[in-house]
Amino acid sequence: MNTRVVELLGLKCPAGVHPPSQKLAAGHAIERAPLPKSVALPLQQHIGAPAKAIVKRGDEVKVGQKIAEADGFVSVPIHATLSGTVKHLATVASPVTGHPVSGVIIESDGKDEWIELTPADSETLSKEDILTRVKDAGIVGMGGATFPTHVKLSPPPEKSIKSIIVNGAECEPYITADDRLMLEETDRILRGLKTVMQVLSVKRAYIAIEENKPEAIARMRQGVAEGSLPGEVEVVAVPAKYPMGAEKTLVKSILNTEVPEGGLPMDVGTLIQNVATLAAVYDAVALGKPLVERVVTVTGLVGTPKNLLVRFGTAASSLIEQCGGADPSADEVIFGGPMMGIAQSRDDTPILKGTNCVLVKRSDIREEYSCIRCGRCIESCPMGLMPLQFVNLVKKEDYESLANYHIADCVECGACAYDCPANIPIVSYIKTGKAELRKAGVR
Ligand code: SF4
Ligand code: SF4
Repeated sequence: MNTRVVELLGLKCPAGVHPPSQKLAAGHAIERAPLPKSVALPLQQHIGAPAKAIVKRGDEVKVGQKIAEADGFVSVPIHATLSGTVKHLATVASPVTGHPVSGVIIESDGKDEWIELTPADSETLSKEDILTRVKDAGIVGMGGATFPTHVKLSPPPEKSIKSIIVNGAECEPYITADDRLMLEETDRILRGLKTVMQVLSVKRAYIAIEENKPEAIARMRQGVAEGSLPGEVEVVAVPAKYPMGAEKTLVKSILNTEVPEGGLPMDVGTLIQNVATLAAVYDAVALGKPLVERVVTVTGLVGTPKNLLVRFGTAASSLIEQCGGADPSADEVIFGGPMMGIAQSRDDTPILKGTNCVLVKRSDIREEYSCIRCGRCIESCPMGLMPLQFVNLVKKEDYESLANYHIADCVECGACAYDCPANIPIVSYIKTGKAELRKAGVR
């Protein structure tokens, strides 16, 4: 069978699941985390080529100073997030892969001295100047994807972009960083949106927010009504279900169209930008401010869950301490949410550009049983796939057949595994299958 289940059954995407929202930090306004004594900054914080270090041991640096250059078009620079001294160039554990990567360690001088910023009137800048400022500031997708933003804002000429979808869905349980940003930094987000609409000459934008965030919806609607956005901008309350924030799910919900298999939203004339990314675009273009910090939700089994404004390179352990420490029963630290987050082997792993949450929890190792063919994974899949077939084929090492079941369309959201009564770690099987296909040269 090589036809999607969604078409066969006439189901309307998106499907999805309803895990408990657990937004423990939702009522806590953003607080600035104390500056750490040192930061560890991996040179690979984004998709694409790692940045190349341009500092050496003993160099004095200021906040916002470039310490590593972008290495090619699909790459961004890294900036110092403390003022002080480069202690050494070191190997740092990547929070994304767990593998060691090159990084720069900076020891603070306690002064928090910044480079001189160069503000600009974004409305008078050319498209090229805006994209240069976005790249130079090291902006990447801050919803977790970490794709360089200047690349996303440079679609090939044959792709006609007609709309922007602003992703304010934040559908993962526990995470509240974007919700707080929409409440507290509405103006920065909308100014960033205005700049992005200007760059792409787009006259239509949709701001997608889950319906269970009425305050954020109201605040953004008010901001849109008061602002001077260049075109029609609509705040859309989307259903509160997981994974509403996945790009393809948003496209289906907002535009009622499907991104083709293996394709991107730009293939159907739209681009998706996360709210935190848009605020960072405003900072970069209008203020000349490089990306050195972000809002991180620190939550789960901690004394007081909070939303903290954190300099990159800060150890997660210091944030957990700032939230009253971890409960003694907790034995796991996840970067991201419980559905798609990545378990960390050490709690001093540094916060990076794509880290929206530090979740402290008890590990949840459950015995795996045989598939009972209940079909719940199929019903939950927002992409209309057949997850149980991925498991079967990977177990049989029949990797070639995975493509017939559209494995490339899987966004690894984990909705299928969440709903599986047999506790089958379906996403692990899917990742193995995709890795085997990559090895065989099949994308
Ligand atoms: S949900 Fe689990 S048990 Fe049910 S069909 Fe899917 S893989 Fe099998
Ligand atoms: S992880 Fe993949 S197969 Fe499972 S529900 Fe998400 S998109 Fe579907």
